[in-house]
Amino acid sequence: MDCVFLSVSKNRASAGMGEWPGSHYIAHMNVPKPTFPAPGHDHDRCTADAMHHAEQVCARRAQKLTPIRRQVFEALLASHRPLGAYEIIEELAKTVTRPAPITIYRALDFLMANELVHRIESRNAFLACVHDHGAASLVAFLICDGCGSVGEVPATQLAQSLNDAARLTGFTPKLSVVEITGTCAHCQA
Ligand SMILES: [Zn+2]
Ligand SMILES: [Zn+2]
Ligand SMILES: [Zn+2]
Repeated sequence: MDCVFLSVSKNRASAGMGEWPGSHYIAHMNVPKPTFPAPGHDHDRCTADAMHHAEQVCARRAQKLTPIRRQVFEALLASHRPLGAYEIIEELAKTVTRPAPITIYRALDFLMANELVHRIESRNAFLACVHDHGAASLVAFLICDGCGSVGEVPATQLAQSLNDAARLTGFTPKLSVVEITGTCAHCQA
């Protein structure tokens, strides 16, 4: 770990610090996802599971996974690296008419609102969430400088103590973002 990007801003975490639903999400997804999937893992499986999860979330909430939302999510699922909005456009332009940025941002807003995509602030990029951890869980993002993959680890307690420290100063925190750069185990090997 050589750099920690922290900001306490925006909204969300204030309402109830949820727990990382370890056992719950294992029951849900059958097999727990490793934080950094090994190179050569069955990525078709990752993609299929994440897409299945997205469909379930949308069905449960009576939300429509429209073609553009699905395409954006699929583009993000192509790897475990976050993509910038323009990279998503380039990706989609390979198969469909080049979408306008506003179209992509709207789809991203939808996917983020439904906890299917995270924004990686320090990279100004978006990450498909292949975990099923729920809105209340706060996660720290581990960003590998080697392969560009981003892993997620539970950070509810960390966020809680940051928020407590912030409150002691009279500051009212809304969302804690924790992004840590470094090298993943596969890139160290
Ligand atoms: Zn994968
Ligand atoms: Zn996530
Ligand atoms: Zn790596």
